[in-house]
Amino acid sequence: MIQMIRDTQQTNTSLHYDAHPARDELVPSRYALKVGEIEVLVVSDGVLTLPGAMLAHNAEPAVRAAWLEENFLPPDAFDWALNAVVVKSGGRTILVDAGMGEEFPLPRAGQLPHRLEAAGIDLSTVTDVVLTHMHMDHIGGLLIDCVKEVLRPDLRIHVAAAEVEFWKAPDFSRVSMPEGFPDALRQSAKRFLKEYRSKFRTFEDECEVAPGVKVCRTGGHTPGHSVVRVASGGERLTFAGDLVFTVGFEHPEWHNGFEHDPEEAARARVRLLRELAANRELLVATHMPFPSVGHVAVDGDAFRFVPAFWDY
Ligand SMILES: [Zn+2]
Repeated sequence: MIQMIRDTQQTNTSLHYDAHPARDELVPSRYALKVGEIEVLVVSDGVLTLPGAMLAHNAEPAVRAAWLEENFLPPDAFDWALNAVVVKSGGRTILVDAGMGEEFPLPRAGQLPHRLEAAGIDLSTVTDVVLTHMHMDHIGGLLIDCVKEVLRPDLRIHVAAAEVEFWKAPDFSRVSMPEGFPDALRQSAKRFLKEYRSKFRTFEDECEVAPGVKVCRTGGHTPGHSVVRVASGGERLTFAGDLVFTVGFEHPEWHNGFEHDPEEAARARVRLLRELAANRELLVATHMPFPSVGHVAVDGDAFRFVPAFWDY
């Protein structure tokens, strides 16, 4: 199945970037903003194409197909954006999630290392990594040899204790993924634990990584899934990881195929979206179209995403 997805990506890719792409990409892959005094940079790791059904495996196929049609999207494949974030505060440089990497090479994903470099972020200056969770599209970038080589020996990796515990014997009974994915996810998490366990700084519910930068456990998607909350000078931004997807505003109750506890994920999603709508803070999420910066509005029983105007 993974091979099939690779083939799909090959055929979908009209502008194919090689392993060593040019630095002058014509489509922007980074977007910088300030939250009070804190610098936030959204960097794209690329795009991952997956079957449309994974957006909502509990929805009626006709309802799901109608949503895709209304959004001018193909019926059977959906491009998942892969956004990571770099946050600078109090002299610390924090990388939030690390993209897909190259363990399972996909032509349009795994671009974070060269895009960080193009954005002027030297990986050797990264003091902290925050992992929203340990799925391979969030940890894979740190498993690339040339990335591992340049990381600081005193790098701190912040991850929820519940996440580390979960991956010792992960439960895949409630997910809905293409064949081959559970094994690939198990394999990369296992390898990550082996290679990086000594750098982990685990937390139960939340921890402050730097002034105004907190990581808070939500659970749901995975038991240790966490979001990053940035606050400075009266301004706020939340990086929601995999708690919110493009479909999750109109249909927060739709179960995403990667959710290990879909009901709990939906509850946590609604809680977060209500809070963000009430306090009017900015949202960024891993799999929403780049740069995914915007606000959340309440819309009847559900929500609406309001993209931020780009500031040039
Ligand atoms: Zn993900």
